[in-house]
Amino acid sequence: MSDDIESVEDFRLRARQWITENFGPIQPWDLDQNCENDEEELVAVARDRALQRKLFDGGFAGLCFPREYGGQGLTPAHQRAFNEELAGHEFPSRFAVPTFSPCAAVLLEYGTPEQKARHIPAILKGEEVWVQMLSEPGGGSDVAGATTAAVRDGDDWILNGSKVWTSRAWWADWGLCLARTNWNVPKHQGLTVFLLPLHQPGIEIHRIERLNGESEACQEFFSDVRIPDSDRMGEIDAGWTVGTRWMYHERIGHNSPYVTRPIGLSGAAAEGPTPVAIARKAGRLEDPAAQELIGEARALEIVTHELQRRLAAAAASGKGNTDSSAIDRLFRGMAYARQKTIAFDLAGSTAAGWTEEEEEATGAQGMDFLMRQVSCIGGGTTEIARNVISERVLGMPREPSGDRNVPFRDVPRGPKRG
Ligand SMILES: Cc1cc2nc3c(=O)[nH]c(=O)nc-3n(C[C@H](O)[C@H](O)[C@H](O)COP(=O)(O)OP(=O)(O)OC[C@H]3O[C@@H](n4cnc5c(N)ncnc54)[C@H](O)[C@@H]3O)c2cc1C
Repeated sequence: MSDDIESVEDFRLRARQWITENFGPIQPWDLDQNCENDEEELVAVARDRALQRKLFDGGFAGLCFPREYGGQGLTPAHQRAFNEELAGHEFPSRFAVPTFSPCAAVLLEYGTPEQKARHIPAILKGEEVWVQMLSEPGGGSDVAGATTAAVRDGDDWILNGSKVWTSRAWWADWGLCLARTNWNVPKHQGLTVFLLPLHQPGIEIHRIERLNGESEACQEFFSDVRIPDSDRMGEIDAGWTVGTRWMYHERIGHNSPYVTRPIGLSGAAAEGPTPVAIARKAGRLEDPAAQELIGEARALEIVTHELQRRLAAAAASGKGNTDSSAIDRLFRGMAYARQKTIAFDLAGSTAAGWTEEEEEATGAQGMDFLMRQVSCIGGGTTEIARNVISERVLGMPREPSGDRNVPFRDVPRGPKRG
């Protein structure tokens, strides 16, 4: 570390004072990002943009981003100290993931100097919210099997196809989009990444309502969308090189050194009442079975944080296996789902509240229980994380695949005809 970087402890004190003076207490919409309706959501988005701008004006945005792009040129240890000091305070929660990680992180690694100069300062100032466009109606786990296609046309590309499950696309500004640009080579060799303004002719965005009634997930339909070649990221047909790092940053998610988010805000701890509060409401504090569940939930929380701390330290040292981020992704997903199951079990007969009022009154955990599996799907499934760990961390044999050395246009797709 160069001598002119402020020590982490001095920085921490400065950050503590600034946060206390500028950021109020944490708000419900920081924790549970599903507002009652679209109007409220848009108000929360505007507020997050303003908070991000405040961070920028205060000199605390993009702590680990280079100064030439408006960042602070500091280290992951500074970001961690900032995030620790942020505990209990409001923060621009809608910027954390996926705008900063993976999108801005990937821009930093693979963007041209012009792309970085255009977008990174805008992100740091709260002017651009980004989404990631990987999943397609034909399947999300097989990311390299993308069939959304871009065809070269002079200095432009013409994009056609569809992406799905894109969180927040209806109000966000830009998307990172993986598209097929070559059908004559095996699937991993014919992909290219593009930067895409979301609201333009040729892009139709549909909302998808989920089980809990919110509709942040979107499906986009692309009809002859024109993309200038200057908005291509990385080499033509080398999108999988970008994609590998993209998925690495996606798996790190909130644990990324590029993300500003209070430490301690993850999993069950972030949302709703604590296991102790649920057991108290259900009159089960003295019940040994309930005490065991409370202990298990607490252990999961501690292990999640310690695992993240260890993996973050390994990543920052540059010595860790980058695919180890899949261990965090797997554990976080499983721990969250288990914590929601524990909350449901602890609530007993009060668990089945249906309205928000009932949930408020009884501490009901029904909807969280029904939605728990989301943590094992969003950001790539836990099954795929297991594959990554077994093949790329433990060195076990790769799973059989029929499409590895076959030109992508010859790979059978969809149901068999006839
Ligand atoms: C809350 C949430 C937010 C999301 N946000 C986004 C977003 O912003 N952008 C975006 O692009 N996508 C997003 N997604 C989509 C998500 O990335 C996909 O749902 C996920 O990758 C799985 O893809 P799929 O649903 O098409 O399932 P499929 O790929 O069809 O898989 C079905 C099942 O088979 C399993 N499976 C598939 N292949 C294998 C294999 N090789 N080995 C073992 N098991 C396998 C899967 O684990 C899964 O259980 C989001 C999803 C959720 C739930």
